[in-house]
Amino acid sequence: MNGKRIIFMGPPGSGKGTQAKILEDRFSLRQLSTGDMLRAAVAAGNELGRKAKSIMDEGLLMPDDLMVSMISERIGCPDCEHGFILDGFPRTVPQAEALDKMLHDKGMDLAAVIELKVPDEVLFNRICTRAAESQSVRADDTEDTLRKRLVVYHDQTAPILPYYEQKGLLKSVDGTMPIETVTKTLISILEGC
Ligand code: AMP
Repeated sequence: MNGKRIIFMGPPGSGKGTQAKILEDRFSLRQLSTGDMLRAAVAAGNELGRKAKSIMDEGLLMPDDLMVSMISERIGCPDCEHGFILDGFPRTVPQAEALDKMLHDKGMDLAAVIELKVPDEVLFNRICTRAAESQSVRADDTEDTLRKRLVVYHDQTAPILPYYEQKGLLKSVDGTMPIETVTKTLISILEGC
């Protein structure tokens, strides 16, 4: 199997989605955003969407088994053959362990895990601006929900970082820099891995 397989980690509002979209074209990688997949299900009004809506609005996480099977199906698709950027997955240690197993079973490995580091205060400002500027405001872009999502990030998602650090895969990037500067840093990481 060819292609780079990358994970983007970082709290809500850290710029994962923005950067993943830029790098998707540049490196012919497929951005796989579990948040986008869930929002599509909500828009479609299907069973998954109905379940996802209340959980997302609360700022909580969807069950691990559901998210693991969603990603497992997706990374086996032909458009992921040249590699992918996981944006928003894994979000818990069990998801990270399940990802290891599924990659191993598919004969794939990870090139890098990139953490976009942004302090909580900066995230509040960003999310409030995103909510003020966006025409279709995300239901979970409110100060209240952001607070919950940050607690969830620190409690359940950040513990994955040492897991990847031990494997020598973790690269941390200062996500408070201007978008273009972050992009340049990410490009040099991706070119080197
Ligand atoms: P995001 O767009 O990545 O910030 O995700 C929005 C919301 O979707 C999250 O707050 C969770 O409710 C849900 N979600 C996205 N990815 C996952 C995941 N890997 N595990 C559990 N819940 C997720």
